[in-house]
Amino acid sequence: MKPEDLDREFMWHPFTPMREWLGEPPLVIERADGNELIDTDGRHYLDGVSSLWVNVHGHRHPRINAAIVAQLDRVAHTTLLGLGSTPSILLAERLVSLAPAGLRRVFFSDSGSTAVEVALKMAFQFQQLGGHTRRTKFLALDNAYHGDTIGSVSLGGIDTFHRIFHPLLFHTLRVPPEADALERALAKHADELCALVLEPLVQGAAGIRLMPPGLLRVASTQCAKHGVLLIADEVATGFGRTGTMFACEQEGVTPDLMAVAKGLSGGYLPVAATLCTDEIFSRFLGTPAQRLTFFHGHSFGGNPLACAAALASLQVFSDERTLESLPAKMAALRVGLAERIAPLSHVFEIRHKGLMIGVELRRDRMTEYDADQAIGARVCSAARKRGVILRPLGPVVVLMPPLSITLPQIDRLIDATAEAIAEATCRPGPAAVPVPASAPNPRASAPGRHRRPAGLFIAGTDTGVGKTAVARALLCLARRRARRPLPFKPVETGCTDGPIDARALRAAAGRDDLSMDLVCPFAFAAPVAPALAAEQSSVTLTINALVSAARRLFDHGDFLVVEAAGGLLSPYAADLTGADLAAALALPVLLVARNALGTINHTALALAELRRRALPLAGIILVDTTATLAPDRLHNARLITQLTGVRPLATLPFVASSDADALADALASVLDTDALFARAAVD
Ligand code: PMP
Repeated sequence: MKPEDLDREFMWHPFTPMREWLGEPPLVIERADGNELIDTDGRHYLDGVSSLWVNVHGHRHPRINAAIVAQLDRVAHTTLLGLGSTPSILLAERLVSLAPAGLRRVFFSDSGSTAVEVALKMAFQFQQLGGHTRRTKFLALDNAYHGDTIGSVSLGGIDTFHRIFHPLLFHTLRVPPEADALERALAKHADELCALVLEPLVQGAAGIRLMPPGLLRVASTQCAKHGVLLIADEVATGFGRTGTMFACEQEGVTPDLMAVAKGLSGGYLPVAATLCTDEIFSRFLGTPAQRLTFFHGHSFGGNPLACAAALASLQVFSDERTLESLPAKMAALRVGLAERIAPLSHVFEIRHKGLMIGVELRRDRMTEYDADQAIGARVCSAARKRGVILRPLGPVVVLMPPLSITLPQIDRLIDATAEAIAEATCRPGPAAVPVPASAPNPRASAPGRHRRPAGLFIAGTDTGVGKTAVARALLCLARRRARRPLPFKPVETGCTDGPIDARALRAAAGRDDLSMDLVCPFAFAAPVAPALAAEQSSVTLTINALVSAARRLFDHGDFLVVEAAGGLLSPYAADLTGADLAAALALPVLLVARNALGTINHTALALAELRRRALPLAGIILVDTTATLAPDRLHNARLITQLTGVRPLATLPFVASSDADALADALASVLDTDALFARAAVD
């Protein structure tokens, strides 16, 4: 079997949507040469992201290769737990000489995540040993990313990566990267804060976001003022990425702890380090009985082969004057970005520091690409066809070439990126807001299952607009038409006495044979937005779970009436709204609006959103939710028609009775029900 086939059979790739991976021929790298990667078919690619931000001097650098081989002839690995090893000692000395003055001790580990994890535990123990037992919390920036171990994930603020793990994490305080906010947060929480953790100058995985100039300095001064430690995560920014050896240098800051990894070994072997001040280190000194020891260590921390590679890499920095070569490269990148990439129509913003570049794409200035359009990934595959490897962060195309990239290679990188962006952004992607790739396709007929029945998605312009009344009336009318209606209220909140609305839907449909679990799979007691109610019950609602719940009903009837919770954009989870569910279920939307003051604006906004998402509209129904005849009532439908071009199908008069049949009669008297049921047919 070829490696490509074996990969598909046995591998699980990190940060990789595996369904998509398995559907495409994998690119398998076999060799490399300088800044180029070579695949199993001998094709060459420029390594535009330095093999995930690690490579510094190119691949197979003779000095680094030779250093590894020489060390291999001595010993590949010995432990640092209670033993020394020459390469790690020499590397520690070298790191201290290069790091911001005052960082004097080096603790080795094996990855960026572990280097951060070590810093967290050191900071915590330092505060505890100093008697500051209430200083147990960490402060991190919005959109932070510091690694994938549970401690470093606890610092993280990127929902896509981190949200699902919330129940496992310790609580971290969060602040936007702004001086005032930072000062306020540090002052307010000083007594309980152990440390502030941040990436100096550039937040890498957040989408190459640049920190406001001077903020690092403010952070350092304010931390010192409040006795809060400053942990600088230089995992991405370290070793020349921002134009200087470490980003902290650019604002003359010495953090209390500094985590480095990625470029430490030139990107050759896994090694990481956490550096700290003498003040921190000395607090851990004492007799065994005092229990001051730092009980932490990884089997391969400070591996001799990796340390030998790191020493060689640092030597190459001085031999080849790597840092001195950077300004010309940074300038060439700046010109290329300005001339070739900035003018492209879907380029929203270019963020650039040193050799870290993020190009953010948007559909237009006001509209972000939907995640499911995978615009970043499409640009990267278009770049790959042009012989350049890139990797996106959502809609941000990241360029992070090795420091050894040459000027002609910079041209190649920029040209390929520009062409790839042009290709990917002009090619029509999937529908505006398609079913998320991970969601089961509600129309697909799986073995033993029926196709999705006809139906309607009842969305409101707000909560309390009469959705349930309309849904009950429709279910009742469907029953009268000898249909087998399927009531579905995926999420109901405020259920202290059970899901009252869902029960009313079931009764209106005459479907007591359906269990309440089928009709309303997620019922929460708290009378708050679904996302919050779910969060308070430690449940994470996902599009997958909601669509799967709908599918469980499919076999039981032929007319599905879905009543969304709250208004159209009411959140079910941080990045999941009723509109996403409507798209995922692929049902026409019946928009229900309260016939009262304010409805014109609400209806126009909801329609604009439905149009933006290209969701099919079955129609608008206005509902008189009270008996009072306010002066605007008679005119709302006309004004909505004039403003939006959509004439409401009907205005459901106020029905005093709570009887579903009475609601159905009232709706049938004002609505062309045949036309509405025809719109609900499966397309
Ligand atoms: N911190 C930062 C700033 C990073 O960018 C990363 C990795 N991208 C990490 C920590 C984690 O490093 P590793 O993947 O080596 O665990």
